[in-house]
Amino acid sequence: MAARGSAAATASFAGALDALFKAGRRRAFSRGEKLIKPGSSTECQILLSGLASIRFGNPAIEVDLLGPGSLLNLGALLKTNENEHLAVALTECETLAFPARLLEQTLSGPRDATLLRYVQERMVQSMRAASCHLNHATDRRLASWLAVATELTGGDEIRITHAALAALLGVRRPTVTLALQMLEGEQAIWSKRGRIIVRDRARLFSRSCRCAESRIDRRRLGWRRVLGQERIASGESSE
Ligand SMILES: [Zn+2]
Repeated sequence: MAARGSAAATASFAGALDALFKAGRRRAFSRGEKLIKPGSSTECQILLSGLASIRFGNPAIEVDLLGPGSLLNLGALLKTNENEHLAVALTECETLAFPARLLEQTLSGPRDATLLRYVQERMVQSMRAASCHLNHATDRRLASWLAVATELTGGDEIRITHAALAALLGVRRPTVTLALQMLEGEQAIWSKRGRIIVRDRARLFSRSCRCAESRIDRRRLGWRRVLGQERIASGESSE
């Protein structure tokens, strides 16, 4: 009985998401553009493609990395419309934007548990990022970041400069260059002119702090299970 109830809840959640996809409008962002800024907003966005870096503080360091299927404005889920962080497009990004009240109307009531679970996942990610920043060496954090970023995009290549990596990791550019050279020396990656290509994923994981594995696992248990790559793909091809 429990399984049947769970299946019904999933189906109704899927129907609600369908309504959102029909009502939303698509927005395109270039690399470096801000998808959302701290402050009050009545608009919500789901990331359809690309990578977005969630930043906090001054200077702003990365506290989460989001891929397709992520919701960019957590304040909307919490019904405050207050957003504390900045989201920056690390690659070209496409989002689906819709009024936050629509999210409340279509994904409320019995679906709240799923949404709160998503908020919890995002909180855990931010806590893990803070802990990683304080406790783990830059070269291991960088290896983790590359492993997570390529997992989220589903490819082996990331187009990003050393300066951009330094900014999001909160270190100096020469430190990133040195760490990349170490990973390259171990034949885990290739790095050239703003492109980083994962050459040996197992080796990259062996050089990363343990945060990479747990971040990827938690994401699989989180929003992606609900929204699903299939839905994103069909949403992208619906125009
Ligand atoms: Zn770590």
